[in-house]
Amino acid sequence: FYFYYVVHKNKTETIVVAHEPTPPPNWDIIRAQDENFSAVLFRDFAYTLFSKVHEARGNRKLKNMSQFLGTKAIEALERLQLNIEDVHSVIVGAMTVSDLSRAHRNKLGDVFTLRLKFEANYTEVVNGKEQAVYTSQSWYFCRKASALSREPDRIASLDCIGCGSSFEPDTTGTCQHCGQHYEPGEAHWRVDSIYQINRRQVGPALTSSAPDVGLNLETLFAPDYWEQKQRMEEENTDFKMEEITGRFKYIFNVLQSSWSDRNLNKLRAFETDHLFQNHSYWVREYERQGLRNILKNIDLEKIQVVKIRSDKFYDAITCRMWAGMVDYTITNSGDLVCGNRSKRKHFSEYWTFIRGRGVKSHDKTESQCPNCGAELRISMSGECEYCGSKLTSGEFDWVLSEIQQDEEYTG
Ligand SMILES: [Zn+2]
Ligand SMILES: [Zn+2]
Repeated sequence: FYFYYVVHKNKTETIVVAHEPTPPPNWDIIRAQDENFSAVLFRDFAYTLFSKVHEARGNRKLKNMSQFLGTKAIEALERLQLNIEDVHSVIVGAMTVSDLSRAHRNKLGDVFTLRLKFEANYTEVVNGKEQAVYTSQSWYFCRKASALSREPDRIASLDCIGCGSSFEPDTTGTCQHCGQHYEPGEAHWRVDSIYQINRRQVGPALTSSAPDVGLNLETLFAPDYWEQKQRMEEENTDFKMEEITGRFKYIFNVLQSSWSDRNLNKLRAFETDHLFQNHSYWVREYERQGLRNILKNIDLEKIQVVKIRSDKFYDAITCRMWAGMVDYTITNSGDLVCGNRSKRKHFSEYWTFIRGRGVKSHDKTESQCPNCGAELRISMSGECEYCGSKLTSGEFDWVLSEIQQDEEYTG
C-alpha cells in the first residue's frame, strides 16, 4: 500500500526530531491481571475517545468527558484553541502505543501507564471561520492495575461507567442518573496529560515519492510463532492457513483497486471502522487537492504469516506482504505530478487482521455476507443491508485492522 507510505513519510518530515521505531507494547503485563483486556478493544476505545474529546472541546462540554480526563488534561485541551466554537470531522491518521509500564499514584494506588501518540486531522471553528488542523499529540493514560476491562460492547461507549446512561455529571462529577461517582482511572482509563507536538494548517503533500527503505530488512517473526500456530489449530479444528491467507489476498486486491478508483465502497466490508475512516480520509484528501493516485499491474508477490495473538475476545494474525505495482499520481486533467507511468515499484508492509475468537469458518464467498449469504451490500457503518449484522468488527470473518510499514514494524 505504497501511497499511504509516501503520504506518511511526508507527514512525519515536518516533525523535527527523528524517531526510532517504537518497540511493541508488552500487553501481557496488563493481561496477567485483567483477563478482559484486549489490545483490539483498547485501540477502539482510544480512537473513539480522541474524537469525542475533541468534539466536546468544541461544544465546551469537556465536563461530560470527566470520567476519562484528569484536570491537567482538561486544561491542556482548553489551551489548544481559545475562543473555540466548534470542532468536527475528527480523523485519526495514526496511533502509536508506547511506554507501557506500572507506576504508583495517589488515590489509585498501583496503576498501568502508557503513552499514545496521535496523528490526526480535524476542523476547528473560530470566530465563525472553519480551519483544517493537522495535529500530532501525545496523550498519557493511566488505569488502576486491579481494574477489569469493560465488556466488548461497552468499552468504547463513553457512557456513565456506573449505569450506562449518557454521562451528565453534577458539579462534583457525580452521575445525575445513578448517583455514582468514580475517581477517573479507577474503573476505566483516564488521560493524565496531553501535549501537542505539532500543529499545521496545510494538508499533507501528496506529490513526492520516497523509496521503500525497509524492503530489504529481514522478516520479523514473533518468537512464539510456532507455539501460537499450534494453539490456534487446536482451538479451531477447521483452521486452514491457506484459506485464511486467500481472504487476505482478496482484501489486498480490493484495497488497491478501490483506492485507485477513489471509491472505497467495495472495501467497506473488509476493514475495521477506524482503518476505513483513515483510508477514507486519504481518498478525500487526494480529491480535495485535485489529484488521482493511479495503481496498475498490481501483484501481491508473497505473503508470510509472522505473528498470531489471541485474547479473550479476538484472534489476530499479522502477515508481511510483498507487492509490486505501477504507481503514479496525476492531476484531474491528467498531468503527471509524481511517480512513473511505466516503471514498477516494489514494497513490503505488515498487515494485521482480526476475527472474533473462535469464530467458525463458513462456506460463503467474499462477495456474500458471511452471516446470511446474501450478495454483499453494506452500509457505511459496516452493516449488511439484508440481515443487519455488523461485519466490520470481525464477528463473522477476518477483517483488516492495521497496516504498518516494514521499516516501522518492530514485532
Ligand atoms: Zn450513572
Ligand atoms: Zn447479511
